[in-house]
Amino acid sequence: MENNPDHITSAITIRVSARAKHACLKVNGVGHVEVVIPKGYNQSLLPEFIAQHQTWLNKTIARMKAVRDPALDTLRPQRIELQAVNETWQVNYGLREKPGMSEYRNAHCDPALWVWNREESEPVTPLLSKWLTAKAKSTLPAWLEQVSEQTGLRYSKLCIRAQKTRWGSCSHKKHINLNRALLFLPEELVRYLMIHELSHTVHLNHSRAYWSLVARWAPQYQSYEKQLNQYSSRIPLWALQ
Ligand SMILES: [Zn+2]
Repeated sequence: MENNPDHITSAITIRVSARAKHACLKVNGVGHVEVVIPKGYNQSLLPEFIAQHQTWLNKTIARMKAVRDPALDTLRPQRIELQAVNETWQVNYGLREKPGMSEYRNAHCDPALWVWNREESEPVTPLLSKWLTAKAKSTLPAWLEQVSEQTGLRYSKLCIRAQKTRWGSCSHKKHINLNRALLFLPEELVRYLMIHELSHTVHLNHSRAYWSLVARWAPQYQSYEKQLNQYSSRIPLWALQ
């Protein structure tokens, strides 16, 4: 790659995929770039591959950044809105010897989250991140189980992850991965994403047969797909750390 000032500044993550046939580039909502390569791909070809798509990358990153609300980029949020579970948390920061978090609920106002650190200068994202993962693990498994029962589409295992560019995935062993950031989406989109992944337990592709299975449970899937793309630029930066 030549040294061009317009070059992307963020690091590129490499992901090896058993199903990928060619190398391909993905940009998430905060402009993070992921290159997906097939197994056995010669990685020394990557600089050339990325350079060939530089114009597209720059344009895509600029577009993502232009639509993004700057308030999402703070690493010390005052409010956390988890649309999926219909909860809005007020976040307070305090100092104490033992770092940690505590939840405070009161019938008269929004629940409050207290983040305790030893010093004000310490980053809070590791604590917030842990809290978000725990929240996702306490809500998404039962939800997926319910959608699985309703649709009759069975999976063998669920993992909740912090993924940068994907909402979810499903493997040939029927293992489903769900991104904990689903908690930021409206409830109906989470349900749709679950239907999307569960339908991959029958068809491991995006064939016509696959979409007609999806349509049985989510007839408006095209609109949902579009919304999922739009939401990728609405995830707060702290949740992507
Ligand atoms: Zn899919």
